[in-house]
Amino acid sequence: MQTNGLQMNQSTDGSDFEGSADLNQRKNSNLRLVKDEDRAVQANRSLAHSGVSAKSAQSLQNRVDELEHQVELLQQQLEVERRLAQIDPLTAIPNRRAFAARLQAEVARSERSGAPLSLAVWDIDHFKKINDNYGHPFGDDVIRCVAQVIQSHLRESDFSARYGGEEFVALLPDCDAEGARILAEKICQVIQQSGCCLDPIDFKLTASCGIATLHGTDRDETLFKRADDALYRAKQSGRNRVVAEND
Ligand code: GH3
Ligand code: MG
Ligand code: MG
Repeated sequence: MQTNGLQMNQSTDGSDFEGSADLNQRKNSNLRLVKDEDRAVQANRSLAHSGVSAKSAQSLQNRVDELEHQVELLQQQLEVERRLAQIDPLTAIPNRRAFAARLQAEVARSERSGAPLSLAVWDIDHFKKINDNYGHPFGDDVIRCVAQVIQSHLRESDFSARYGGEEFVALLPDCDAEGARILAEKICQVIQQSGCCLDPIDFKLTASCGIATLHGTDRDETLFKRADDALYRAKQSGRNRVVAEND
């Protein structure tokens, strides 16, 4: 007999029951349940054989959970440490290590996209005298302040770092030589005009800057070297100025 396309059979008491396909499905599912139960019994037996009771199995499981939790915490802590290792503690901006990684990435990105990439390197002028005249903690304030001036003039896609001592770098993606010069000069002006808003009368603060723009055959070190050479020439030619690689 055919009902809604489902094969129905007659049971011994006369009531209809579902077709054989469905019955087979249920048999298989029951069989699976029996097998699962059998496996659980086997597992318990082997635990019992190995002398591990259900109670100690549970406490082992608790210990595993606890260790997994500890691993998770350590991984989170490691991630925090990794981030801290890239930050300069005095200025809270990225450090030289972070800069090296970013420089490599930006050089590769610029080579792929063909977009310009410029690099600026600033060094505070006669900083040793500032330390000598006003003390080391005041020198620290000056370093913090210059870091802040540089950072506040950059775009979100730019990247600045404290390269070391009183030296700072800024990576400027999508910025050609002329754009880099305008930005670097603006930053030098602000450093000079504001004296970084630090107090002492007669306090003079200036910085020199070297800039370079990525060439076809450049690698990260060669780009940095050209900017650093330009900075050296800025110092040699009187300080408080920006010098580009081809000046
Ligand atoms: P130039 O114009 O040629 O750059 O001369 P300079 O005096 O700035 O350069 P020099 O390399 O002679 O001196 C840099 C000084 O910066 C020496 C060092 O004690 C000081 N310095 C380095 N790191 C720190 C720091 O974290 N805090 C302070 N306060 N001083 C620092
Ligand atoms: Mg200096
Ligand atoms: Mg220096």
